[in-house]
Amino acid sequence: MGALRNMVDEKTTVADLRREVEKFVHERKWRKFHNPKDLAISICLEAAELLELFQWLSQREVWRLARNPVARSKIGEELADIQIYLLCLANVLNFDVSQLVAEKLQRDRERYPAENFKGRAPTSADEKR
Ligand SMILES: [Mg+2]
Repeated sequence: MGALRNMVDEKTTVADLRREVEKFVHERKWRKFHNPKDLAISICLEAAELLELFQWLSQREVWRLARNPVARSKIGEELADIQIYLLCLANVLNFDVSQLVAEKLQRDRERYPAENFKGRAPTSADEKR
């Protein structure tokens, strides 16, 4: 646990996180439960738990909530749950997460050139192009 406490973004690689998640799963013999469908469901369920924290709140109330230490801890816990299941799915399907993100960002750079989308969100008209 001591080593895990020192895991911060600036010093931790995606491979480090993948190993920690894999170790956690292996120690409990949970790999047999980790099929792609159930992991995808779990990602959605954890994302829903995050949404539940914000349900019915205005934008202003959500920002206030995010500054509250107790609520912030709950938000962080759901972010961690989502990340962990994402890493579990990448492990099971043997995807290189960094490569996936880099390739998708490149496709999105081409799809949404900064000069055309600076300060504006894509509309349905843009999606049809
Ligand atoms: Mg959760």
